[in-house]
Amino acid sequence: MVIVMKPGTSQEEIHRLAGQLEEQGLKVGITNGVGCSILGLVGDTTAVDMDKLSINDHVERVMRVSEPYKRANRKFHPEDTVVRVGDVKIGGGNFAVMAGPCSVESEAQIIEVAEDVKASGASLLRGGAFKPRTSPYSFQGMGVEGLELLLEARAATGLPVVTEIMSPKYCELFEEKVDVVQIGARNMQNFDLLKEVGKMSKPVLLKRGLSSTYEEWIMSAEYIMSEGNENVILCERGIRTFETATRNTLDISAIPEVKRMSHLPVIVDPSHSGGYYWLVEPLAMAAVAAGADGLIVEVHNDPACAKCDGQQSLTPKHFDQLMDKVRTLTALTGKTIN
Ligand code: PEP
Ligand code: MN
Repeated sequence: MVIVMKPGTSQEEIHRLAGQLEEQGLKVGITNGVGCSILGLVGDTTAVDMDKLSINDHVERVMRVSEPYKRANRKFHPEDTVVRVGDVKIGGGNFAVMAGPCSVESEAQIIEVAEDVKASGASLLRGGAFKPRTSPYSFQGMGVEGLELLLEARAATGLPVVTEIMSPKYCELFEEKVDVVQIGARNMQNFDLLKEVGKMSKPVLLKRGLSSTYEEWIMSAEYIMSEGNENVILCERGIRTFETATRNTLDISAIPEVKRMSHLPVIVDPSHSGGYYWLVEPLAMAAVAAGADGLIVEVHNDPACAKCDGQQSLTPKHFDQLMDKVRTLTALTGKTIN
């Protein structure tokens, strides 16, 4: 961190501030230039309050020269993190596809879709039991009952399950029952939830918030990791832009850039990104080409009657065709599908 002092600040004031910072365990180097002085801070500056420094009467400007995230930072962990879910690996050259309906709707539905996506090559089953809906009058998910149905589908197919948690009160239940805990886009900055999920032993799928920067997204991963859970999978799911023809805008740059900033795996959700079934395949292909470590795709056995997100759901047949293309393209990227 670098602090630029206002022109004319006395040496006494400069040394007073330097002393306060040294009390926080930092080393402070003072450079006196023509007209202004600069303080260079060395050490762990994560806890330094930049806002407090900025309002100091003698301070002109405060700049961070290193990122505020440490555990998720590739600088301190150059090799890719590989997240393991049973035998499935995600990251570090391993590519995995998660597929299933937006919401669990019935035993027959989830088992049928699970069997279909497994036959096409998916390695995890997705399905929402607790749904974060924009309207309180929309279907809210089957809750705990839906979770039990997901487990039936897991028993029938062997596919590990990924499902969204919306409240810390369910952490114990999710710890016991699910394989991957999903944090939805709307909860990316629900810091209490992130901290509780950080105490769990299950891998976490952390979706990017609707309007979040890469740094904010990685800082949310840092919340989870700072509590001890280092198994975080980042998921780009499209962001809010001025475009209204698509539900969201898939930010392709997020894949290479976030992988440069962090060692965590980055997967893509082409379903929520585009919001229409005809966009899923092209967006999925773009994601694979840009280096994604996996995909999470909504598949429904009867999209026209789906209780949630039918318009963006693939039929099992279309998903099967998508998987053929994904396999071909993944081979070109040098990644192994599992
Ligand atoms: C979902 O995966 O069904 C979902 C609600 O996604 P998001 O949080 O990305 O909107
Ligand atoms: Mn959905």
